[in-house]
Amino acid sequence: MAASTNGPQSPALDVKNLGVSYFTSSGEVKAADGVTFSIMSGKRMGLVGESGSGKTTTALALMRLIKPPGRITSGTAVIDNTDLLSLNDEEMRNAKLSKIALVPQGAMNSLNPVAKVKNQIIDGLRDHDADYSANQYRELINELLTKVGLSPQVGDMYPHELSGGMKQRVTIAIAISMGPNVIIADEPTSALDVVVQRQIMETLAELQEELGAAILLIGHDIGLMAQFVDTLGVMYAGRLVETGTLRQLLREPKHPYTQMLIDSLPSLERQDRKRGDLRGIPGTAPSLYALPSGCPFHPRCPQAMDICPSEEPVLKVVNDDNQSEQLAACLLY
Ligand code: SF4
Repeated sequence: MAASTNGPQSPALDVKNLGVSYFTSSGEVKAADGVTFSIMSGKRMGLVGESGSGKTTTALALMRLIKPPGRITSGTAVIDNTDLLSLNDEEMRNAKLSKIALVPQGAMNSLNPVAKVKNQIIDGLRDHDADYSANQYRELINELLTKVGLSPQVGDMYPHELSGGMKQRVTIAIAISMGPNVIIADEPTSALDVVVQRQIMETLAELQEELGAAILLIGHDIGLMAQFVDTLGVMYAGRLVETGTLRQLLREPKHPYTQMLIDSLPSLERQDRKRGDLRGIPGTAPSLYALPSGCPFHPRCPQAMDICPSEEPVLKVVNDDNQSEQLAACLLY
């Protein structure tokens, strides 16, 4: 599956200094801290990280789905001149599906088990006061289902009558129903077998190109990401530690954590390891309740220096090839 090539060069999504904290009896836990990135229209960015790294928190914050005791503490997230983070609830309801849509992890839990597929698609449209006749709804639903590779008859079925892959296709149909500028896909294929995974990713890629939308793909399998995205962001302990084009990060990863991720990618000699799985990295991700001082990666870093436990690195440009900046947060640079 080739990375996308179309689309004008303007950011579809521009995220700056996003912070999300959970305020617990043990104190403030920064689940996302200073997260800054942008995705051009028609492009796909992957956000990879172990569980607890902040990638899903970032996705939920962009959808304004952070629940108490969590709160967005800083930042902007601009789509089409609108800062999603400053919208009131009503404005955000309107922005969902039309500006930004989520293809959730685990379609099983996100679909209503007692509603027919067609009614679940209609519900999303009605949220936007779409005033269609019964015929128009029928036509639109048939068109959406066909686009995601399902037969129009699926509209009259309940989720339990569908396979896991079909259910995930229904969530994609809902996500694209209003032609959003940005689609967030949170580990959309994690519960599916590899053949179905690939088919669904191909469908998502085709639809994204047709819409000219940007995709933010959240995941932990860098091998799967590599087949799909144009740019990558690597998250660790709530921060982005490296961003760049796929080529830059695969060929010349700068941050030691990214280097270890790339080293964990499969080779012909290493069939024993699951493809690009982050669980292949030695050591465990730090608890956000007790982050290591300085660079939070220092207890696991094979290149740690004396200064690393006391100074916190910030993202800076480490490579500027063809105007595509590669940034890393590491004191080696
Ligand atoms: Fe390793 Fe130090 Fe760089 Fe952190 S700042 S990744 S500990 S070398």
